[in-house]
Amino acid sequence: MVLVTGANRGIGLACARRFRSLGDRVAATYRTDPPPAHPDEAGPEKAGGELVSVRCDVTDPSSVDEAVAGVEERLGPVEVLVANAGITKDTLLLRMGEDTWSEVLDTDLSGVYRVVRRALGPMVRAHRGRIVLVSSVVAFVGSPGQVNYAAAKAGLVGLARSLAREVGSRGITVNVVAPGVVETDMIADLGESRLEQLTSLVPLGRKCTPDEVAGAVAFLASEDAAYITGTVLPVDGGMAMGL
Ligand code: NAD
Repeated sequence: MVLVTGANRGIGLACARRFRSLGDRVAATYRTDPPPAHPDEAGPEKAGGELVSVRCDVTDPSSVDEAVAGVEERLGPVEVLVANAGITKDTLLLRMGEDTWSEVLDTDLSGVYRVVRRALGPMVRAHRGRIVLVSSVVAFVGSPGQVNYAAAKAGLVGLARSLAREVGSRGITVNVVAPGVVETDMIADLGESRLEQLTSLVPLGRKCTPDEVAGAVAFLASEDAAYITGTVLPVDGGMAMGL
């Protein structure tokens, strides 16, 4: 089973749909609203795999535990985990209070720790598993107004690489994708001129689609990526060029 957090929209939803179209059973977590119905999810005759949605707030350990236990019961153990849920709370450091710092770290870094920790045990026992963490290009190039977000997203790289060393002998890979500017609700508030400015830094000259990130995530979860662990795969149109 594939578990994708924050999968009611944006990159998470694209990942959930991608895995489902590959024939996987997918658990898509949402915080407030479940993922919208999709024509391809209409009936079993069209089904590749299965997509079930489950409520989960990654800042709440008991919510994570309940959600994972619930989907394990319905769909079996988590074989692929895509830790995608994340938020931004942008402001310059001098104006960034404890709450704004903590909320982002608690969701984007500690939330990943909680979900990975809960899903890992059965993977260790099964001697197989794939973990993909959704970081950001901001972890490497920085971004004014995002010290909280950049710190959390950079933290994911250390988390992934350390865990990759802990569980490699159990046949579990742990990798990171680092998207650049992706067309989702997360960037909707940035404003046209900031978006234009960001896009001008992208050698490919355009924003990324959620589905393009899903393709990279699906690759890292595939058999073709069996010998890839502890890596960071940028999906940024060349924005950071391997920084
Ligand atoms: P989005 O805002 O559309 O999606 C974020 C998802 O995370 C939503 O489903 C939301 O409900 C969920 N979420 C937030 N807080 C949560 C919580 N406490 N518990 C459970 N779920 C929670 O944005 P997106 O662009 O699809 O973001 C997905 C991931 O991609 C995030 O980790 C984000 O940081 C990362 N990312 C996005 C971009 C971009 O340009 N959009 C670039 C790089 C990385």
